[in-house]
Amino acid sequence: MAMEFTTSPGRTILVREGDITRVPVDAIANAANAALAGGGGVDGAIHRAGGPEIMRELDEIRRRIGGCPTGGAVATGAGRLPAQHVFHAVGPVYRDGRHGEPEQLASCYRRCLALADERQVRTISFPAISTGVYGYPLREATEIAVREVIAHLANPASGIQKAIFVPFGQQAYDVYVEICRANLPASR
Ligand code: ADP
Repeated sequence: MAMEFTTSPGRTILVREGDITRVPVDAIANAANAALAGGGGVDGAIHRAGGPEIMRELDEIRRRIGGCPTGGAVATGAGRLPAQHVFHAVGPVYRDGRHGEPEQLASCYRRCLALADERQVRTISFPAISTGVYGYPLREATEIAVREVIAHLANPASGIQKAIFVPFGQQAYDVYVEICRANLPASR
């Protein structure tokens, strides 16, 4: 299942259901935790598929800067994943949406997009950050993700040509497509 949308000439958002570790891109965003310590969910899948090299790099970053604040992201290589970079973004734990969660989640996407442009990334994939164990309501999180990516791709200085949302499961896919449809023309 996949659906493509045009954001501006030559730039697209693809919504593609499935396992993010199987989608070839320049950079994969990961839903990490503040300790950068590895976890379950998409983070576990990324470390399993990428191999131990990614955690070795995170150990080094932890030694240097401790961890990563909520709303931030740090970059490593991608080990055996079909990518060059992984951006480990720390999404907020959802309480009620009135404790800064929307801004923190938006910040995750912006940090990943900034890291991407610093590295001349042309294609980047995103899981639904914070919507698993961290409990962020999927629809609200997706509105933020789609809004931030569209805003970034509207900047002509960005080198990103394609952003790929990789929701896990049909229900999540339907939500992403609906929200992209509401904000963008479909390109095919
Ligand atoms: P968080 O702690 O940020 O909530 P999770 O990993 O628990 O992170 O969940 C984030 C989202 O990632 C969830 O919507 C979950 O369904 C999805 N997910 C889990 N595994 C994968 C995968 N292999 N590829 C893409 N998305 C995944």
